[in-house]
Amino acid sequence: MTDKEAVCVGVRLRPFVAYEQGQQQCLTISGNVVHVDPNVAEQSQKAKVSEFAFDCAMDSTDPDAPDYVSQDRCYDLMAKRMVDHVLGGYFSCLFCYGQTGTGKTTTIMGKVEPVSKQGLLLRLMNDLFSEMTALQDEGLEVHCKVQMLEVYNEKVRDLLVPMNGNSALALNVPFDIFVQQRTYVKGVADEPVDSFENCVQLIECNEKVEEGPHQSSNVSGERLVELTFINQSLMWLASCIQALAKPETRKSMVPGAGTGNLMSRFRNSKLTLLLSNALSGNSKTSMIGTLSPALANFEESYSTLTFASTVKNIKIKAKPASAVDKDALVKSLQEELQALKEQLAASEEKVHADALTDKLEATEALMERYRKGWEEAQTEAKRLMSQRGADLEKLGAPRWSWAMHSVLAAKREDSKRIPHLVNYSDDPYMRGRLTFHP
Ligand code: ADP
Ligand code: MG
Repeated sequence: MTDKEAVCVGVRLRPFVAYEQGQQQCLTISGNVVHVDPNVAEQSQKAKVSEFAFDCAMDSTDPDAPDYVSQDRCYDLMAKRMVDHVLGGYFSCLFCYGQTGTGKTTTIMGKVEPVSKQGLLLRLMNDLFSEMTALQDEGLEVHCKVQMLEVYNEKVRDLLVPMNGNSALALNVPFDIFVQQRTYVKGVADEPVDSFENCVQLIECNEKVEEGPHQSSNVSGERLVELTFINQSLMWLASCIQALAKPETRKSMVPGAGTGNLMSRFRNSKLTLLLSNALSGNSKTSMIGTLSPALANFEESYSTLTFASTVKNIKIKAKPASAVDKDALVKSLQEELQALKEQLAASEEKVHADALTDKLEATEALMERYRKGWEEAQTEAKRLMSQRGADLEKLGAPRWSWAMHSVLAAKREDSKRIPHLVNYSDDPYMRGRLTFHP
C-alpha cells in the first residue's frame, strides 16, 4: 500500500526587471513564508490574506543576499528529487505557473551557458544522464526517450517533428490525448536520446524554429484568439485544482475510475487533460509559482499565491512501476485490445461504445509505443535530426550553439537561405519571436 502524498509547492520571487525599476516591492520572503506588504494589502480590494506558507519559498530578488536562491539552489530545493523518482520507477511532474514575465522560462530552461544559468530541466537531464552512465558502467541496459509537445490554441503540436519548411502543417495536426493509468498522446514522436548534449540539441532546434507559427498568428491579428484560449485553459486548470483540493470531490476525479463525469472536468481543455495524471493519477508532482516583486503586478501575484495555496491541498497517490517484460506487456496489451474489440462489437448503447472506443485507442497507442524496437527508434531519430538541421538552415538560424555546431557545420556550405527576420534578444521569452502590431 502506498499513502497519498501532497503536491510539493514552491514559489519563486524574481528580481525587479528594467521596466519595473523604481516601483514599490509588494512581496517579501522569510523562511518559507511570503509576506504581503501591509500597506499594499490594506489598499487592495483583493488581498484577504497577508501571509502564505509553502513547502519552499525562494527569494531570488538579490544575488548578494545570504538567502538568495540561485538556479543551482532552486534545483536542489525543487527538482533534484525527481532524479530519484524516475530511477525509482515513479512518474514525476514539475510545472511552473505564473503571469507572463515572472520567470517560468528562466526557472525551467534558463540558459545553456554559462552553466550557473542553467534552469531546472537542463540540470535534471544532466543528473539523469550521469546516473544512467553509472548504471550502464555496471553493465545495465538503460534507454531514455524524449517527447516534446506544445499546447497552442487548444491544439497539441509535436515539437520533435521537423517542420519541412511548413510550420502551419505541424501546428494543425490534431493529436488525441488518452488517459489510461498515465497520459498518452497518440502518434507523437518518441525520440531516443543518449546524452545531455543530444537533449540540448532538441531544445535548441525548437527555440530557433519557434517564430514560425507565433509570427503568423500575430500578423493576422489572431493574438486575441490566442489569449482567449490561454485564459480558458487556465480557467479549467483552476477549476480542476479547486475540485481536487476538496477531499469530497477528489475521490470521484481519479482518471479511469468508473464511469460518469469523473474525467469531464479534465477533458475541458488539452492542458488539463495533459496534466490529469500529474494532478490526480499516479505521479509525484511539484509546482513552482513564479512571482514579480513589483507593485504594478500585485493583483496577478496575489492570484498566483492563492492558486499555489490551493494546489498545496491536493494529494496524489504514487506507486512505482513494477518490473515488466516488454514482450509480455505487448502480448497482454494485444489480448486487452482483442477483448475491447469484442465488447465494442457487442455494445448497443452509444455512450458505452464511445467509452470503449476511447479505451481501445489508448491501448493501441500504448502498444505502438512499446512495439517499436530500440534500433528502429534510433534510426528514425537520426533521420529526424538531419531534417531538423535542414529546417534550421532554411530559417537561417542566427547563432549555432555549441551543441548544434557539429551537426550543422557540414551542411552549411551548400545551404540556400531564404530572406528572414530574427529577434536576437537575450531575454529567453523574446528570443526568436517577432511581434507585428497591426
Ligand atoms: P516567463 O517565462 O514567466 O514569461 P521569463 O523567464 O521570460 O518569464 O522572465 C521574464 C524576465 O525576468 C526575463 O527578463 C528574465 O531574465 C527575468 N527573470 C526571471 N526570473 C529571474 C531570476 N530568477 N533571476 C533573474 N532574472 C530573472
Ligand atoms: Mg516564458
